[in-house]
Amino acid sequence: MNLLVTGGAGFIGSTYTRMLLNAAAPDVSRVTVLDSLTYAGRRENLDLTDPRLTFVHGDICDPDTVAGAMAGVDQVVHFAAESHVDRSIADAHAFVRTNVVGTQTLLDQALRHGVHRFVHVSTDEVYGSVETGARSETDPLDPNSPYAASKASSDLLALSFHRTHGLDVRVTRCSNNYGPRQYPEKVIPLFVTRLLTGGTVPLYGDGRHVRDWLHVDDHCRGVEAVRLRGRPGEIYNIGGGTELTNRELTGRLLTACGRDWSAVRHVADRKGHDLRYAIRDDKVRTECGYRPRADFESGLVRTVDWYRRHRSWWDRVTPTES
Ligand code: NAD
Repeated sequence: MNLLVTGGAGFIGSTYTRMLLNAAAPDVSRVTVLDSLTYAGRRENLDLTDPRLTFVHGDICDPDTVAGAMAGVDQVVHFAAESHVDRSIADAHAFVRTNVVGTQTLLDQALRHGVHRFVHVSTDEVYGSVETGARSETDPLDPNSPYAASKASSDLLALSFHRTHGLDVRVTRCSNNYGPRQYPEKVIPLFVTRLLTGGTVPLYGDGRHVRDWLHVDDHCRGVEAVRLRGRPGEIYNIGGGTELTNRELTGRLLTACGRDWSAVRHVADRKGHDLRYAIRDDKVRTECGYRPRADFESGLVRTVDWYRRHRSWWDRVTPTES
């Protein structure tokens, strides 16, 4: 079976691709990665010498490129996206283009090529800020940032291809991922790389924003559980089970990097900053047998250790302090 992974040179897509090729997916014999290598995508995230892997350097918004990559493909797992909220606040264009038009282009070509299954990877941010409790898959969409709005749009498009055309589409919505190879603009790799080099880190507002943390390996196992055991037309939340305020997270990162609170700068809050994301993921646990395995404390220590040992991976891309 030939599987197409979009965005497979990025943080989560490359982890998923490595997981497939490490024989974790007996039904998959070939993997094609389609990735345009934006600032967030890196060839070195993949083992391009593996004969089972084909890498296509191209844009998911280009129908001809997608048609070429999709020829002979049985299933698609779609990770490619513009993924950083701050960038979407500065300029939303690329977000609508890649996340909405790119998803539509993939869905169209999946139909044309008779693809059997299409897993669309999305985010808990589509539910918007959650004051109390936690969101289920049946709760309404209420995205706030342009990033979240573009992902919500793509979720609806993907589901419409199931309802209108009968395409086997499955949507996953996960919480904040952490782990190796995450581009150092997201909070954990940004803070770790700055703290390890003696710099300071910017904490938004009063630091009371709450996120649920999910190790990238657990997320990929969740996506795989949905691909194998989910149902067509269904949405599955994938959570990590570790809710922390950004202040609590910062404290743990300071400890892991051997620094103290003098390294923290308080900066103006992000515009429209969602206070809390929270999802219930009992559906993926019950239907697909998913359980997160990583313990956050040790997962974070391993992640910091990876950045410590792979300085050449991030040295030239860590943004300068502002
Ligand atoms: P990432 O930014 O690290 O990687 C995105 C990848 O997509 C990159 O390799 C990039 O080159 C590629 N890409 C971007 N635009 C493209 C285009 N037009 N054509 C082809 N390739 C393109 O992102 P990530 O953190 O790995 O996120 C993967 C998916 O998971 C995204 O859909 C994101 O919305 C979702 N998600 C991420 C998180 C998280 O915490 N990182 C949380 C929830 C959901």
